[in-house]
Amino acid sequence: MAASVEAPAFVEFAKPAISSGEIDEVVAVLESGWLTTGPRVHAFEAAFADYIGVPHAVAVNSCTAALHLSLLAAGVGPGDEVVTTPLTFCATANVIVHTGATPVFADVDQATMNLDPDLADAAITPRTRAIVPVHFAGRPVDLRAFRRLADARGLALIEDAAHCIEGAADGRKVGTNADFTCFSFYATKNVTTGEGGMVTTASGEAADWIRVAALHGMSRDAWRRYSSAAGPLYQVVLPGYKYNMMDLQAAIGLHQLARIDALAARRRAIWDRYDAALADLPVTRPAPAGPQTVHARHLYTVLVDESVALVSRDRLRAALKDRGIGTSVHFQALHLEPYYASRFGFARGAFPNAEFIANRTVSLPLSAAMTDDEAERVIAALRDVLP
Ligand SMILES: *Cc1c(COP(=O)(O)O)cnc(C)c1O
Repeated sequence: MAASVEAPAFVEFAKPAISSGEIDEVVAVLESGWLTTGPRVHAFEAAFADYIGVPHAVAVNSCTAALHLSLLAAGVGPGDEVVTTPLTFCATANVIVHTGATPVFADVDQATMNLDPDLADAAITPRTRAIVPVHFAGRPVDLRAFRRLADARGLALIEDAAHCIEGAADGRKVGTNADFTCFSFYATKNVTTGEGGMVTTASGEAADWIRVAALHGMSRDAWRRYSSAAGPLYQVVLPGYKYNMMDLQAAIGLHQLARIDALAARRRAIWDRYDAALADLPVTRPAPAGPQTVHARHLYTVLVDESVALVSRDRLRAALKDRGIGTSVHFQALHLEPYYASRFGFARGAFPNAEFIANRTVSLPLSAAMTDDEAERVIAALRDVLP
């Protein structure tokens, strides 16, 4: 009888790192009888604010919701412009459209892949109300430059930190620099709750507004302020949204947050292994993190230049998939997506650095749940496909 050789399992692009702590806490929430926003959400907000080192953290059901409410809290609305990067997930710009404002893209730096502060400056007009840089792949943007720019031009600074919970630069933790910083706990992110998000801010007033806007515009404080003890439980003070986080989600987040340093260390070990192993392959590795910078190491992205690699990015992805390796692309250039291209009249060449990256980039599997063996399989597959 021939020995049967089982094919090794597919190496997922971003497998969530879930342990028994998360599982047990979710079961405890289910058994508690309280599923939606409650004590676990409040504990998660407190733990998150403490981790970042910021006075206020408000939990919501996605980073998209966090960005939307932050823009609204900053007063962004119809007629306004908001400067952001075209090398991002569509949610960053979609929510600007939701407020009635116009997203204005400025190009990224080709090495850091982050919004270039000088190009952002050049995109500011009298209508600009806010700037939304994205800490791409976990690399903090130039925090000081964007803070200076926002202050000099009287703009709100809202950071999309979906990739960058652990990030810090110039002695500042990401989450303490901007007027609002928005985090994602989507399934593939460094800390996950399945779906979820958080806003951090130094403004208690803004945090209160976001809390009310995230749950139908219902305010208990308004009731306390304006009503007698015999009054209603709440008053609807604005037509709010349904953006609240559930205790079921926060139960996962509390345990993920407790493990954040260990998870980051594991991703860093895989990152360093990729960096060493890919040095002699014909791809461009991520630029090293600058001094005084904590890179959150969310995405390990390499650039594939077909003239050097002798294979296109898309052919490389297909060949890796055939070898059991999942990859992703971060990101397609947002200004060339049909909605943005047609509504705002963008054509190829509008943001050459973002397009250069979008045409060549591929994200390799990276997750704290990956084994050494899986990382070696990714490297072996790359060696097999590349010259
Ligand atoms: C994932 C992501 C978002 C959206 O996060 P959700 O929590 O899924 O809403 C926003 N911006 C960037 C850069 C992202 O990668």
